[in-house]
Amino acid sequence: MDAPVLHFGAVSVWLGAQSGKYPDGNQVLVHGGDIQVAFDTPQASRDRHALLRDIDLVILGHVHEDHMVALDLMPDAAVLVHEGDVAAARSWEGMKAHYGYAEDTLAGVHQMIVRDFHYAPRPDALPYTDGQTWQLGGGVRVRAQHLPGHTAGHCALVVENEGLAFIGDIDLSGFGPYYGDATSSLADFRQTLKDVAQLDARIWVTSHHKAVITDRAQFERDLARFAARIDQRSELLLERLSEGPMTLDQLVAQGFLYPPAHSAPWTASAEARTLTQHLDELIDQGRVERHGDAYARS
Ligand SMILES: [Zn+2]
Repeated sequence: MDAPVLHFGAVSVWLGAQSGKYPDGNQVLVHGGDIQVAFDTPQASRDRHALLRDIDLVILGHVHEDHMVALDLMPDAAVLVHEGDVAAARSWEGMKAHYGYAEDTLAGVHQMIVRDFHYAPRPDALPYTDGQTWQLGGGVRVRAQHLPGHTAGHCALVVENEGLAFIGDIDLSGFGPYYGDATSSLADFRQTLKDVAQLDARIWVTSHHKAVITDRAQFERDLARFAARIDQRSELLLERLSEGPMTLDQLVAQGFLYPPAHSAPWTASAEARTLTQHLDELIDQGRVERHGDAYARS
């Protein structure tokens, strides 16, 4: 069955299953007069890879397994990645540092992403920088806007002539922002949530869930709800610490982002990384104290 496709001038958006719910994603294609570009390559594009036959260039908004699913089908396309994420695209060694999980966890993750995401590194990936622009011919122009936090190199890709911003994994989902990997940063994500609102756009496309928003008031409501998840998590953490001091392992075992039974191979690592950043923030704010391995409310 063909996925729904939406057209915005030179841009087409192929929706993944359930509006690109993970492990799928939404595929953005930009048709310049001279150059055909894909933003990321999720499962949705692998399922209909005839679409990708004419693609000259893949610009990755960031590196994660679900955004590079069809790269092995496009060996002749150039692959560009922000300099903060390019090492992760080039090799499994780079990807391991990007995730930053424990070594035995990484073995399971590698197995899973090869099996479920056709994971294949791109040693030929080239770096781009914040503010870089690409002229695709026919007045079609793309600009990268660095919006880190989800990963170190996460960018919005803005098709300036269409007022369309692909904002990737600032996905405005009910889950909220994800900053559970080694190169993720809660502090950067907080700034990014302010900066993304300043993009000069009237159409916003996310990789997952929301897919396409064409109304600024709606975008701002969704963004506010998404951003609020961060402080809600801090409140939840303070609530748990009201019951008494706890170690990081005890907090991880309770389930913070995910229910305790969540069984993805990376769950415990992502929980620990996320909790640590919230705990550090709360310590800086004087709301939590650390005594040895235990955290307590101040
Ligand atoms: Zn991601």
